[in-house]
Amino acid sequence: MINFLDLAKVNNRFRDEINSRIANILDEGWYLQGKYNEIFSYNFAQYCGTKYALGVANGLDALNLIIKAAGFAQGDEIIVPANTYIATILAISQNGCTPVLVEPDINTYNINPDLIEEKITNKTKAIMVVHLYGQAVQMEKIQELAQKYNLKVFEDSAQAHGAVYQNKKVGNLSDASAFSFYPGKNLGCLGDGGAITTNDQDLYKKIKAIANYGSDKKYHHIYKGVNSRLDEIQAAVLDIKLKYLDKDNQYRRQISKFYRENIKNSQIILPKTYDENAHVWHVFPIRTKRRDELQKYLNNNSIQTIIHYPTPPHKQNAYKEWNNLKFPITEEIHNTIISLPISPVMSENEIKRVVEVVNDFI
Ligand SMILES: *Cc1c(COP(=O)(O)O)cnc(C)c1O
Repeated sequence: MINFLDLAKVNNRFRDEINSRIANILDEGWYLQGKYNEIFSYNFAQYCGTKYALGVANGLDALNLIIKAAGFAQGDEIIVPANTYIATILAISQNGCTPVLVEPDINTYNINPDLIEEKITNKTKAIMVVHLYGQAVQMEKIQELAQKYNLKVFEDSAQAHGAVYQNKKVGNLSDASAFSFYPGKNLGCLGDGGAITTNDQDLYKKIKAIANYGSDKKYHHIYKGVNSRLDEIQAAVLDIKLKYLDKDNQYRRQISKFYRENIKNSQIILPKTYDENAHVWHVFPIRTKRRDELQKYLNNNSIQTIIHYPTPPHKQNAYKEWNNLKFPITEEIHNTIISLPISPVMSENEIKRVVEVVNDFI
């Protein structure tokens, strides 16, 4: 079987380094808010090019904390792509704000900047972009709209650690950005983890306090905060893996390039990128009208695939109030998309085998 993603293999590359850091944590007996959190936050901010990074418990918390700290009122609107993973939308609703869904561009699968302005009302407070599948959103037009209408811009960078737009990394393209370190992400830990990056000192301080029971100093609570921490073991592991992230992303780009140059099947639409550096290929999504057949066929040929995602947020039970809305491009994507294996530990033979089998699909 060619696994979609062999996480044991991914992480066992760092077995000795991880073991030695975990042994160090056991020796010292310090598990939260310690030196590894400090080191990793510093290194991750450096990596993204931002002034600040804060480790938190997971990606959904990172999104939630950003929106909470922005201090929007009940019913304020936040623009978000209709085809994102549901976490982005949940974070908006969980803070009493209204998600306003915008269709993606069929070529990039990212929010279509040309469809945003018509959705802006006097309640709109922010645009939340999502660098979906690993490709950085083309931010120029979005920044212009934000200036024109005085909106905040936030990024959901959970799938795009290291992707570059106009010489800046994602996480450094907006007022604040949320990252997830869920094990399967391009930078993943051995459990749950997340981070927020920003260049705004006041926002950073506020988010940091809210994530720590609303406390700016011990037993002094200025917000009705939450508890969201990145623990020392995860921070230590992430700090090791961060050093290899660019190399891993480069290998993903190589695989993607090989797929895009060698998969030749008229029934399949390959993903595109506007710039090789803009994409870190968190997944390699292809589209075909015969998606379910293709998945079965690949599985019969020992190639594991995953669908990102089978049902769009507006068709979910959780958002019954949206079930009758129509987002034709989003629906077309969800009905036809399927992700091929791509990872830093795939062998050359596996990559070639995927191409062969996909090309033989008739
Ligand atoms: C993974 C992911 C999240 C959520 O991250 P968790 O760490 O699982 O909470 C949010 N947004 C997107 C786009 C994701 O892919």
